[in-house]
Amino acid sequence: MRPILKRIYLDHNATTPLHPLVLKAMLPYLERDFGNPSSLHRFGRKVRASMDEAREKVASLIGAKSEEIIFTSSGTESNNLALKGIVEANRKRGNHIITSSIEHPAVLNVCKYLSQHGCRVTYLPVDRYGLINSEDVRKAITKKTILVSIMHANNEMGTIQPLREIGRIIKEANSKRPNRVYFHTDAVQSVEKIKVNVNKLKVDLLSLSGHKLYGPKGIGALYIRKGVRISSLLQGGEHEYNLRAGTENIPGIIGLGKACKIASRERIKEEKKLLKLSERLYQGIREKIPDIRLNGHPKKRLPGTLNISFESVEGEALLLALDLEGIAVSIGSACTSGSPEPSHVLLALGLSYEEAYTSLRFSLGRENTKEEINYVIQILPSIVKRIRGISAIGRKK
Ligand code: PLP
Repeated sequence: MRPILKRIYLDHNATTPLHPLVLKAMLPYLERDFGNPSSLHRFGRKVRASMDEAREKVASLIGAKSEEIIFTSSGTESNNLALKGIVEANRKRGNHIITSSIEHPAVLNVCKYLSQHGCRVTYLPVDRYGLINSEDVRKAITKKTILVSIMHANNEMGTIQPLREIGRIIKEANSKRPNRVYFHTDAVQSVEKIKVNVNKLKVDLLSLSGHKLYGPKGIGALYIRKGVRISSLLQGGEHEYNLRAGTENIPGIIGLGKACKIASRERIKEEKKLLKLSERLYQGIREKIPDIRLNGHPKKRLPGTLNISFESVEGEALLLALDLEGIAVSIGSACTSGSPEPSHVLLALGLSYEEAYTSLRFSLGRENTKEEINYVIQILPSIVKRIRGISAIGRKK
């Protein structure tokens, strides 16, 4: 194998590197400060105090109160707790859930499970840019609706949904009915990348994940607005306000708190930088490579996310060719049992199977530089040309 000259990581929507200061903050809790936060002695009390501080930092990043934050093991668990927990606690009031067709599997597969257990689920469509029409939410609400779950920003193409508008519509509907419709958002991709405030967005529940914001893996959080009726999924001790039994993952929680604190400080600067870098990448690709298309909204999009279809180029072939050059990107399709299915997100935008197979996701992050982007722009055209020369996917006549 050829030696790799560079290593350029452009897959931050998959996961982010741990911030060195996050690691530093976590280390004492893997060594000296090992106490159980439920213990009454000083070992426990010290850890409890640090956990409370971390909870405050997470809450502060999203404009919540610290007692509204529940620590979980991941974004996936937060979504499970939100959806199943609301259904379980509100069964007598209704069984209808509204979501979108482009959610992450951590919502879609929970909805599938719930529909096999007595729920009815409405999947709202999106337009060609991946946007939900908020009026569709209004039309879909029935007497039996208990929950609307719409992701904040899509992981594959970055489109940001009009949550404020949807929140306003739900609030309006709630003012005319005895049973409240709850509003959940999967904000795993948006927290840290853009401003997220639970009150401005008018959401009742919000999921986030440590490893998407330069924190550790294996830790997530669910914001639950005070007063929301929700059941726990786990039976056990009284941890996390009785909503998530099990001794807490303290190093993970401390890491998540630190990552949120850094995000509160750096977000605006980072957002500007990422916008500039991804625009540079997009313009570079547009100028040098014919027959490409941007998937997702041209403006209402996460600052570092760029999903591009390269006509006649299989995304997987391009990914592997770039990997050989030390550049890590992602394709929009999930590989199941060795056979890559085209992305449900890209199909929902109206792309054909063939077009969906030709897409590639670049997701930029904090450590990326202008020089790295220039390098990608420099080598990508010849790789695309080479693959087009041998492509099995038909070209436009
Ligand atoms: N939701 C979205 C939008 C995601 O992008 C992801 C991960 O890719 C998840 C949920 C799952 O998060 P976790 O990996 O923390 O389980």
